[in-house]
Amino acid sequence: MTNGEIWQAVLGELELTISKANFVTWFKNTGVVSYQDGHVLLCVPNTFTKAWLEKKYHHLIIKSLERITGKPLRRLEYKIDNIKNVVEQPPALATTSSPTRSLETSFVSRPPTNDHGGFSLNPKYTFESFVVGKSSELAYAAAQAVVTRPGVAYNPLFIYGGVGLGKTHLIQAVGNELRRNNPQLTVVYVSAEKFSNDFITSIKEKTTKDFLARYRTTDLLLIDDIQFIAGKEGTQESFFHTFNELHQQNKQVILTSDRPPKAIPALEDRLKSRFEWGMIADVSTPDFETRVAILERKCLEKNFPLPIKTLQFIASNFQSNIRELEGALNKIIVFHQLKNCVPTLETIKEVLISASTVSARQSLTPRQLLEVVGQFYSLTTDDILSKNREKKISLPRQIIMFLMREELKMSYPAIGDELGGRDHTTAMHAHEKIVRELNQDLKLKQDVDLLKQRLYVNNV
Ligand code: ADP
Ligand code: MG
Repeated sequence: MTNGEIWQAVLGELELTISKANFVTWFKNTGVVSYQDGHVLLCVPNTFTKAWLEKKYHHLIIKSLERITGKPLRRLEYKIDNIKNVVEQPPALATTSSPTRSLETSFVSRPPTNDHGGFSLNPKYTFESFVVGKSSELAYAAAQAVVTRPGVAYNPLFIYGGVGLGKTHLIQAVGNELRRNNPQLTVVYVSAEKFSNDFITSIKEKTTKDFLARYRTTDLLLIDDIQFIAGKEGTQESFFHTFNELHQQNKQVILTSDRPPKAIPALEDRLKSRFEWGMIADVSTPDFETRVAILERKCLEKNFPLPIKTLQFIASNFQSNIRELEGALNKIIVFHQLKNCVPTLETIKEVLISASTVSARQSLTPRQLLEVVGQFYSLTTDDILSKNREKKISLPRQIIMFLMREELKMSYPAIGDELGGRDHTTAMHAHEKIVRELNQDLKLKQDVDLLKQRLYVNNV
């Protein structure tokens, strides 16, 4: 048996024991580099895959290797490299006529799908192209459970988290995967905003029937950014009935939001409670290793490899938002392609300085900060500047003072002025209070994290 054949057989076994999405995510571009004296060296595409295989599949791989070769294994090690460099004829997914081939090619060969038949998914959002880290592990697992048992496992699935952290990617991955398993399935993906507009139009133009046919007879309904329907009574009512109808028929509903159901202001209680029926999972900001792994993956997709040191540098500069991280990488790629030069740390710094959040931070004004926080808590600027000391107003006010100090580095007297001529000691106490409570109050911490992201989104 050649190394290629051995690995092929191992993959065949593993494919049967773990989920399809996991299988493709973790075993794509792997291969046996060498097998000698009970010592196997496995090629893996990146650090993240290595860590994941070591943590989750190490023993499974060893067991399988022993079964296939009929010999005990003394050591299994991993080497990070491009499979094409180290294995003469990569036996792994995508290159041979293995049983996994159809799986692999279906990822690439799917034609772009636009909005036909009420189905509008972006084919690039797959489980395979989603890099899982601690910050998204739960949401990813829940999304996969839905693929395995749609309508039954978790209905609804509610995924929440800040901007640019992969919510849309994940729910569309569910749609794409279910469609791949069953092309007959009808999937509707819309933003809550579009849902609301469709609803209003259907009333104006007396096309309610079409509206109902579109939304209430689908097998899978994906609604993005559901927080948008807050305060919109007609839309909420219509969504409530849509939800009930689908749920009763065990049709799967998946929702995303920038915050958990309880924290969405002006949302009817009956909707809040329904959102909590199934599973609520959050995505939060990815840690450093995950950010590097995401960059590695994007480089691979764009066929523009960059040295690991470079990726680490980029990852350390973009911490809170994957969309920005990806945006920075795109800028770097375009810059070097246009100039036709090899990326160095210097040229990369040059691109990033002109694009980075540093400039965004400088352009954020105290008034914008106040408005962003106000909007988040559904308060007007007048509420915030008023003397009202009710907690629902005073807490957001204190958060504003905290953020002005932390993010804009303003002096306490300047903060006091900005908040309608308050004393500088008030600003100081507010700052101290929030710092203290951030350590104890998870909800507050969550809010402040979300707010920090929001501050810069529109400015980048
Ligand atoms: P959200 O809906 O939470 O605002 P998106 O799903 O639109 O965020 O993600 C923003 C961008 O970042 C997309 O291009 C998406 O593919 C990418 N992205 C987010 N999370 C991941 C991840 N874990 N792995 C790979 N790409 C990701
Ligand atoms: Mg989104």
